[in-house]
Amino acid sequence: MSAPRIQSFQPPTRILLGPGPSDVHQRVLDAMARTTVGHLDPSFGEMMEEMKTLLRYAYQTENALTFPVSAPGSVGMESCFVNLVEPGDKVIVCSNGVFGRRMAENVKRTRGELVLVEDAWGKAVDPQKLEDALKANPDTKIVAFVHAETSTGVESDAKLLTEIAHRYGALVICDAVTSLGCIPLMVDAWGIDAIYSGSQKGLSCTPGLSPVSFGERAIAKLKQRATPVQSWFMDLNLVLGYWSEAKRTYHHTAPINALYGLHESLVMLAEEGLESSWARHRRNHLALLAGLEALGLELLVEEKSRLPQLNAVVVPQGISEPQVRADMLNLHGIEIGTGLGDLAGKIFRIGLMGNSSTPENVKICLTALESVLAAQGRKVDAGAAVQAAERLLAEEAGA
Ligand SMILES: *Cc1c(COP(=O)(O)O)cnc(C)c1O
Repeated sequence: MSAPRIQSFQPPTRILLGPGPSDVHQRVLDAMARTTVGHLDPSFGEMMEEMKTLLRYAYQTENALTFPVSAPGSVGMESCFVNLVEPGDKVIVCSNGVFGRRMAENVKRTRGELVLVEDAWGKAVDPQKLEDALKANPDTKIVAFVHAETSTGVESDAKLLTEIAHRYGALVICDAVTSLGCIPLMVDAWGIDAIYSGSQKGLSCTPGLSPVSFGERAIAKLKQRATPVQSWFMDLNLVLGYWSEAKRTYHHTAPINALYGLHESLVMLAEEGLESSWARHRRNHLALLAGLEALGLELLVEEKSRLPQLNAVVVPQGISEPQVRADMLNLHGIEIGTGLGDLAGKIFRIGLMGNSSTPENVKICLTALESVLAAQGRKVDAGAAVQAAERLLAEEAGA
């Protein structure tokens, strides 16, 4: 067989305004292009310790057990379930979208006893329903929910849900894949027991790493297991041989250059400051919203549950959703997301996550959307969307 004549891959220039990945900053790409050292090199070990410090800051936790799993967010999710759920454990999953459903699937596969508490897609998790489920199931060991449901653009009240779970003696697993770095999240102050995130959303690193953090109660549950963790790779008892400073023995070959990238993106988050990052996400969301309203568009989610980093926009009558996305990508180089499940074709999802959340991107997106909608015959007031966004940004700057 002769060698295929294929040349190096040259990706097109894009602006990533979908549900993730978000735009990766040149500083992060540069960090990833640095020389590869060994995963047991002492210098790399120092970088790993800094990484843990930076992640503790991002999560607002003192948890010693805070590190990135060498795999995407889905494996962070699976790591939480596979380590904490023992066969027969009763687990309540509060589901209001795709990722809640995935949590439920994890409970089944770890052979936990699933109690599914569902809310409509586009609504926040109802704390009263959780409380009712806990009353009906006092032997519940774990409560799991998604802080920022990326499939619908909804924030649930992670602090309140955690408080309710603890009142009934259950541990909490929280999905923070799309919330970390974008909206307030206080692991210690809220008492979250186990949490996972992803590198490619609010942190704007490349995909493929999942920062996790486990508190003392979660570790105690892990230590009390009567059965071994089914997964060899995800078994925290083993992974920690590598991620603990005292041991640092081979477990798997870490994705070295990817970790340089995550380190850099966390350095950038610390430089900006968490509060400033949260405020920036909010500001740019409000600017986008002002522009969308000028285009006569509406968001799916009611104001109090809206995620600034993920805007679910209702597709208006007479507009083809796939055509909007295709034109945004092919004519303007902008990636936006589609709706999933029941919301397929009914919404498009505009992400303003991490490094993608800039006033420039808001304006570029609105200009493109205006022309894409006009091409489908929608009456739009040329330039009005960007003007509305600029007015909002000026007000925020003055405030
Ligand atoms: C993206 C996402 C995940 C999965 O992360 P991957 O890196 O794609 O595996 C899990 N939960 C939520 C809320 C997400 O947005």
